[in-house]
Amino acid sequence: MYHPTALADTIAAIATAVVPAQGSIGIVRLSGSQALPIAQQVFLPQGSPIWQSHRVIYGWIRDSQGRRIDEALLIWMQAPRSYTREDVVELHCHGGIMAVQGTLQACLAHGCRLAQPGEFTLRAFLHGRLDLTQAESIHDLIGSASPQAAEMAVAGLQGKLAQPIRQLRQRAIGLLAEIEARIDFAEDLPPLDISAWWAQLEEIQAEIRQLLATAPHGELLRTGLKVAIVGRPNVGKSSLLNAWSGQDRAIVTDLPGTTRDVVESQLVVHGIPVQLLDTAGIRASSDPVERLGVERSQRLAQTADLLIFVVEAPTGWTEDDQTIFATIQARPLLVVVNKVDQVPLDQVVLPQGIPPPIGAIASQGIGIRELETAIQEMAYQGKIAPTDKSVTINQRHQAILFRAQASLQQVEEAIQQDLPFDFWTIDLRTAIHALGEITGDEVNESVLDHIFSRFCIGK
Ligand code: GDP
Repeated sequence: MYHPTALADTIAAIATAVVPAQGSIGIVRLSGSQALPIAQQVFLPQGSPIWQSHRVIYGWIRDSQGRRIDEALLIWMQAPRSYTREDVVELHCHGGIMAVQGTLQACLAHGCRLAQPGEFTLRAFLHGRLDLTQAESIHDLIGSASPQAAEMAVAGLQGKLAQPIRQLRQRAIGLLAEIEARIDFAEDLPPLDISAWWAQLEEIQAEIRQLLATAPHGELLRTGLKVAIVGRPNVGKSSLLNAWSGQDRAIVTDLPGTTRDVVESQLVVHGIPVQLLDTAGIRASSDPVERLGVERSQRLAQTADLLIFVVEAPTGWTEDDQTIFATIQARPLLVVVNKVDQVPLDQVVLPQGIPPPIGAIASQGIGIRELETAIQEMAYQGKIAPTDKSVTINQRHQAILFRAQASLQQVEEAIQQDLPFDFWTIDLRTAIHALGEITGDEVNESVLDHIFSRFCIGK
């Protein structure tokens, strides 16, 4: 058990995002055996309410000196029917920093401990309400930046990843049991049907490969892509960003070099969250390198996953374009030829060796659909897009599955080398242990620390 003594505390934290003067409601959450008695010291109900689980009670929050600091609602969720499976109390205050902070302070003054990041969810895990993949899915759901990413997280929350992993582990345990029985009761049992046993091992391996194939898609949905728009001044970078993001966030002007800072927009491209960066940032300068924003382009080229290099049809590919291109050509790149309303794409002379260009009229939003298709294709290039996209693994699962896979390969090698059963069981046990680490059936403290420390306080 993880930090057994820590579970004895009653913890409290602000459960909602606190942006000063922006939220209409803020929630302070308490969990632990003393949640209700502590809340009853902090909360003064109006009238004589019935203290019943899962009922809303109206009243006032008092600070440690008994002064009323907010009007609030209280919900008590008696164990085990709560998020943590402990007694949970939620105090719904007015939003903004003062009311929720004051409420939290009052709870701490009456004996709560401030929760660690992710501690509510950790408790839910330790009490068996969630497995580790579900806990990770909650984190993913909170951070998801596209409907598809949220859908994936909800699938995980429903146990759709834990299920196949547990089944695989059970099958591996079944295989182990057959071997162990042969070790212990060799005389009483018929000899092992090695080819049937091997076939089952192969099936497990195939399913692990299928799960591993979902990693790139999961990773894309979780972390998204950073896409930078680069190119010389006045080719239409800001216009492209604006048309694409549907917002007038970058300043569009006829004068070159007015986009002084990097402008960012969040988009969703075929389910992939995309952070779009407009790199213009050109300052009026006689230094040609500075003038072209080459340095800035280079810097962004290093951090971005994909570059959109914009050139324009009326001037065609210029020397300046060539200078910029030389600095970024090693990176994943799409080329957009803008302003094809003025000169058609097929009349624009482009150098050999550049990726197939996409024609655009940024000011009218034309070419964006083609650009999005190209981004999707590049994002999955060389990677297998899984068939059932709702179930995907994360990097932690991927690392563990690689370990499990390696151990199962060792088992196959032991069989091929005619080694005794004991040798098979060692690696098979390692693989079983690994599969258990994904769901948390086998787990150690550092893994829990790693997972839950990424959560926010209050979750
Ligand atoms: P940036 O410096 O690369 O960000 O370029 P801007 O987006 O500021 O655009 C420079 C000028 O080109 C502005 O006057 C835009 O209206 C114009 N422009 C942008 N896209 C197009 C296009 O597709 N066709 C035409 N004809 N003009 C465009």
